Amino acid sequence: MAQEERGRCACGAITYTLDRDAVAMANHCHCRDCQRATGCGFATFCALPDAAVTVTGTPKGYTVQSDGGRDVTRFFCPDCGTALYSEVAVMPGFKFVKAGTLDDPSWVEVASSMWAASAQPWAPVDASKPSAPGNPG
Ligand SMILES: [Zn+2]
Ligand SMILES: [Zn+2]
Repeated sequence: MAQEERGRCACGAITYTLDRDAVAMANHCHCRDCQRATGCGFATFCALPDAAVTVTGTPKGYTVQSDGGRDVTRFFCPDCGTALYSEVAVMPGFKFVKAGTLDDPSWVEVASSMWAASAQPWAPVDASKPSAPGNPG
């Protein structure tokens, strides 16, 4: 039984629905690439299978090498620039949806933080959760 949640970019040109029950994990990522892409200290995302996410509209994507040297394709709204989700070469078939784009992000349960080694002093790692200095595992 899917539990549907909705999200969108700031201007509303891109919307999506996802099945909350399919979220495999939610994490904070403090890597430099997420910092640059978000303009903030870290990104918070929910990882879930492609089949559990339905995107309406046409996001634009660009591919960069992550801090871990793996390809990351980041999708954003070409009209307003909102970062919506990423796909990573190391976990094919999954989308990493930016939690802040959900209409109601309050239910997201963050399990851990990654790339703690590049956390900034003004956006410290959540000390109440496990963290990894780089990619987990
Ligand atoms: Zn937009
Ligand atoms: Zn990152």
